[in-house]
Amino acid sequence: MAANSTLPFEKHAKSLQFIEDITRNADVVQQNVLAQILTQNAQTEYLMGFNLDGAINRAAFKSKIPIVTYEDLQPLIRRIANGDRSPILCAHPVTEFIISTGTSSGEGKLIPTTKEEWENRWLFLLTTHACYEQRFVNGKRYFKGLDKGKRFTFLFTRSERRTEGGIPARFVAATLYKNDLFKNRPYDPYNDFTSPNEAILCDDTFQSMYTQMLCGLYEREHVIRVGMAFASGLLRAIRFLQLNWQQLTHDIRTGSLNPKVTDTSIHECMARILRPDPNIADFIARECAKDNWERIITRIWPNTKYLDVVVTGAMAQYIPTLDYYSGGLPIVSINYGSSECFSGINLNPMCKPSEISYTIMPNMAYFEFLPYEHNSSDVKPVDLVDVKIGKEYELVITTFAGLYRYHVGDILRVTGFHNSAPHFQFVRRQNVLLSIDTDKTKEPELQAAVDNASKLLREFNTSVVEYTSHADTTTIPGHYVIYLELLEKNSNNLPRDNVLDKCCLAMEESLDSEYRRGRVVDKSIGPLEIRVVKNGTFEELMDYEISKGASLGQYKVPKCVSSKSMVDFLDSRVTSKYFSQALPHWTSERRL
Ligand code: AMP
Repeated sequence: MAANSTLPFEKHAKSLQFIEDITRNADVVQQNVLAQILTQNAQTEYLMGFNLDGAINRAAFKSKIPIVTYEDLQPLIRRIANGDRSPILCAHPVTEFIISTGTSSGEGKLIPTTKEEWENRWLFLLTTHACYEQRFVNGKRYFKGLDKGKRFTFLFTRSERRTEGGIPARFVAATLYKNDLFKNRPYDPYNDFTSPNEAILCDDTFQSMYTQMLCGLYEREHVIRVGMAFASGLLRAIRFLQLNWQQLTHDIRTGSLNPKVTDTSIHECMARILRPDPNIADFIARECAKDNWERIITRIWPNTKYLDVVVTGAMAQYIPTLDYYSGGLPIVSINYGSSECFSGINLNPMCKPSEISYTIMPNMAYFEFLPYEHNSSDVKPVDLVDVKIGKEYELVITTFAGLYRYHVGDILRVTGFHNSAPHFQFVRRQNVLLSIDTDKTKEPELQAAVDNASKLLREFNTSVVEYTSHADTTTIPGHYVIYLELLEKNSNNLPRDNVLDKCCLAMEESLDSEYRRGRVVDKSIGPLEIRVVKNGTFEELMDYEISKGASLGQYKVPKCVSSKSMVDFLDSRVTSKYFSQALPHWTSERRL
């Protein structure tokens, strides 16, 4: 990588100015974005079907184009994936599909993107980083010296596939890190990663993680930020260290590489990095051998200034554990986005995790906000600049790559404005009950899983009276817990223990591909657990809720519990526990 002779201050200042400009003129930018999208894509099959007749204004757009979900677009997306090159959704050719971790009918969603769309996304990322570095360097409350050390950030690319029509389909990280802009990036003192490209680009999760950890350990004194995309992943990395520190320290002591790492590019690059260093090895081994892993991050990487990881939304459940391992280091969550669109930047990086908000960048797409009102189906979306502080909205986007008034599935709460662009707290993914990592299990999927397990109980004359679930993140990796109350109708024919183990697996088999990938490939989710509770537990739970003010007439058993008091209550009624004893099926060969 070539050394960059000019430090990036000028670039930073320009980026901050750019953010100021687009947020000050947010409404005009939005109007222009919509006009550009509609002009560019006027001749597509999709837009022609709604008789816009060349109109590029908001009123016509909103009155003629319906709000849709992925499922509405799926037949069109399938045609593109199968090789239909006509302008179906957008005028520019679809150059790749991003596989979203959100699923439809159990399979990852395929989000079309184009070369032009990616140019915009790169700009977003560059702006985000430049804005950060500028704030960290110049702001009073921010960190100094981030250009004087290394970033120990785990970056992964998962393997990519091609659709039947030959279009690459990959997760967003693969596009980012396989791109020449990343691979051939010039030296940047603020983004001097400990992980070599060869480790980042290795599709094998173990080999990639092992090598990245090894490099981070060698550089322990130079590391000033530790990070991963999501909090669940960073905790998995700590667990990885717990399981592998003996081999890792052996490698450092001897300057050799674990034989389980077989990737030839990694071998070539590690030949330049590996050196016997008994001092580092002994230090790490001493720390890791202790029973107490509290503050392990700052013990091993003593100059870490903050954790660089998303802790909003479902990831907030991991904050206490991260605090435990880091001794309460600041946590910085940079941005909010999805496979469909990169949307928001956290312009106040040093705030507390509970205050993290993301300012929507109005140049990235045309954004609409559907008021999230539980008891009303008659709500109309409002424009970006018209949202109200304190209100919750469902995000609806229109992109350059052919998604029109598309329901992303995220619920956001407005916390304020930066100039005229609002900032939001991420509230939750709509309808998602359980999430450990990138999995998002909704109620119908959980119900189907319980139904599947129930079938195994039938021959024992046993049925499920009631159930609820909980994402248990006290284990690493976290895992799903299903509380079952059973009705055993024949005491001479009770389900044997291994039947309930099999029920665990049956549930996992019917959960979606992202869950099963987490279990099998990424190992980011632990075996599903059934906790059988005493008869009458759910009635007691209802009494307990009503005693706290719930209405008897409206009471429904929650299909997921997260409050400590509820979990403690259920745990106090558990009579037996079972775990999935095998991995569910998962194959990357499924049709795209
Ligand atoms: P994917 O399309 O697989 O990249 O997943 C995108 C989804 O991840 C978003 O729609 C959100 O639900 C979630 N997500 C992304 N960024 C954040 C964030 N900063 N905080 C909370 N959730 C996020």
